Amino acid sequence: MKEFGFELRVCAWAERNWPPGVAGGTDPVVARQLGTTRRRWDTIVIEPTSGGLTERAPFGETRLGSDLLSLVRHAPASWTYYRECLPDPGYPWRYVREAIHEADDRGIIETRRDGNRIEIRRRYRYPAWVDRVVAIENKPDLNAAAARRLGEQLEHDVALGLADEVWLATEASDGGVEPALLEAMPVEVGILAVSTASGAYSCEPVWQPRTLTVTDPGTRILDRPSGGSEDASAARFEYADPEWKRRKRTEIAERAYERGWRSYAGTMRPDCRYFDLEDPSGPFPRCAAKGRPQTAAECSGSCPSFEPEPPAWRTGGWPIEGGPGRATKRLLDRKRRRRRGRDP
Ligand code: SF4
Repeated sequence: MKEFGFELRVCAWAERNWPPGVAGGTDPVVARQLGTTRRRWDTIVIEPTSGGLTERAPFGETRLGSDLLSLVRHAPASWTYYRECLPDPGYPWRYVREAIHEADDRGIIETRRDGNRIEIRRRYRYPAWVDRVVAIENKPDLNAAAARRLGEQLEHDVALGLADEVWLATEASDGGVEPALLEAMPVEVGILAVSTASGAYSCEPVWQPRTLTVTDPGTRILDRPSGGSEDASAARFEYADPEWKRRKRTEIAERAYERGWRSYAGTMRPDCRYFDLEDPSGPFPRCAAKGRPQTAAECSGSCPSFEPEPPAWRTGGWPIEGGPGRATKRLLDRKRRRRRGRDP
């Protein structure tokens, strides 16, 4: 199976079954392709605290970026001049004022003027709604070379300790996952064996990960010598301080909250007459022209087989809804919102 379809199925499975093997689950927020500027993970699972999603909901469906997060953390319960309650940002205060106006427009804080001074007051306390962050790397077709490369990459993830757990999800054949390939992985990394036989899919943990200490300083491995007899150079690394990790984890969680994993409709072409959805447990995109699931890269404005929905599809039963393509986007959006507990 292609990586894109594989990734969507891992997301759908995680949404219903996380954490693996625990009855009752955590009602996680699952998203794709998120991380830091240096490292992006295929699947991110955010385990919220008990009641965390409900407490996060008043801040709206759109994420809070780093500037808004800093603002809501420090905004006081009573009217205060903003420079007296917010920490010095380390950049010009006018950017802070922009964030204040944005937060006011979004109804997150209140503002008033006292002469030239802007005073602020919070409307809601920003909750510590993120319990654990789990990173999953997806590699359906794991061979020896890919296992070596991935093993190194996952070692970096373990050393940094930004996520509480790191997993590798790979496709299992009839005989399971090749043990020699898994030996290339760090022991701290969990392994999910994904079976996609006969169109259905299921995942099973075959190696449990170790919990990483996200509150300790992490290590960024910048350069590592090959270790051969010709290479006596030293490894280069730098520390990632716990405060940076705490901020990044919240930023990643906020982005996951906004996007979910079904946001693929935003970059693909559901307005194409051949765009279809299959398997209600996803649903997952499928291309009728290709007769198979298409990738996100294929299903773009440059697809040679693209054909717009016939205008007739937007009349009759569709005049208000705007055609099946728009209905597809609404369906995916509704499912995404339901995960955040905003729809009944
Ligand atoms: S024909 Fe191209 S644009 Fe249309 S659904 Fe298939 S892949 Fe997407």
